Amino acid sequence: MRYIGPVCKLCRREGMKLFLKGEKCFNHCILEKRKEIPGQHGKGFRMKKISEYNKRLREKQKLKRLLNVGERPFRRYFAWASKKKGLTGTNLLVLLETRLDNVVHRAGFSPSRVAARQMVLHGHILVNSKEVNIPSYALKPGDVVSLKEAFRSNVFFKKWWEQAKASALIPSWLESNFDQWSVKVLSWPAREEISFPVNDQLIVELYSK
Ligand code: SF4
Repeated sequence: MRYIGPVCKLCRREGMKLFLKGEKCFNHCILEKRKEIPGQHGKGFRMKKISEYNKRLREKQKLKRLLNVGERPFRRYFAWASKKKGLTGTNLLVLLETRLDNVVHRAGFSPSRVAARQMVLHGHILVNSKEVNIPSYALKPGDVVSLKEAFRSNVFFKKWWEQAKASALIPSWLESNFDQWSVKVLSWPAREEISFPVNDQLIVELYSK
């Protein structure tokens, strides 16, 4: 089941900024003031030594929370990754990184993955000139993602796209065409260019038990 509660709680639970609120995360982040784990027993919890199992579990939860993916779909991703050639952990991250909602965010169309997911669900995004409203849609090299023409005059979308243009933070496996409001997937992302700050080996160990 997808989490629909307050997202800042998730960052406090993981003890790190997951950037789930877009621009607010840079200006008014609650984590800078309240670092303890939410709940009655949160204070002092981080002082305790955490078990190996817990370390692995936290790493998996962090990754799920970054994309707001439920346990069942996450397990399906893991099964898919383990059937592919190469390292399961890297395969898992590549599959998640090339989801449509994540690419919309990484391309700079939106300030957060949450906003990217909304844009896809509301039918604002085209893949190879056809509307796709499935956030988990799996992109592959050669696919072109763009914003529907009708939404290009929206002040927010314009602002975010201008920011993406100015920051030039686009990874090398994506190629932006700012005039066309589009981005092309050039190749599968390399491990070092994947945006999730997790240790994939710990997640593999958790599911391999
Ligand atoms: Fe996390 Fe953003 Fe909330 Fe900070 S403001 S705790 S980074 S969601």
